[in-house]
Amino acid sequence: MYSGRFSRTPEYSTIYHDLPRDASFWAFLFSIDQDLAESARQKKCPCGGCLHRANYPRKPRGGGEHLPSEYGRRLSFCCEREGCRKRVTPPSVRFLGRKVYLGAVVVLVAAMRQGPSPKRVPELTRLFGADRHTIARWRVFWNEHFPQTPFWKAARGRLASAVEGVALPLSLLVAFLRSDDPAGDWGRLLRFLSPISIAGGWAIEVSR
Ligand SMILES: [Zn+2]
Repeated sequence: MYSGRFSRTPEYSTIYHDLPRDASFWAFLFSIDQDLAESARQKKCPCGGCLHRANYPRKPRGGGEHLPSEYGRRLSFCCEREGCRKRVTPPSVRFLGRKVYLGAVVVLVAAMRQGPSPKRVPELTRLFGADRHTIARWRVFWNEHFPQTPFWKAARGRLASAVEGVALPLSLLVAFLRSDDPAGDWGRLLRFLSPISIAGGWAIEVSR
């Protein structure tokens, strides 16, 4: 259904297909997760102990047929010190908290239900595998929960006018998918969201 209100924002019509779900894109996101994990490892445990690998097994959905085997684990660490053994899980651009679907899919599919010509749910189910209940839950997440988080209240200012008047998560796509390098843009978008990918991350204040 066409609405004249959107006639001055042609970018809506071009951003939808821009999730490059090929093996190199997934490998690129994995390399960002490796960097995030290495930073966490170098910072060590709050007790001063070294961190050892203690990854979680995951079975992520929505990645299509080219998802590398590395996606079967969520990078994580455990303190080596007896009596501490604290778990340290770095932020991730692949996994959005405990959600089963890949973070990029949770953003993209919800955004595809928005805008002047929303994609129909059966088509999204065919493309990404998420059923209508799951897609409805994601919309509640973006409409009701995410905007209330300290993370978003602090971070939204960094996106300035790009998010003005556009609902989440479509506003994130409008803000980040701006170049002719969709993989790089998606990397930046998911890195922006990565603080909320860890337990308690909702409450993290953004410093820059
Ligand atoms: Zn420790």
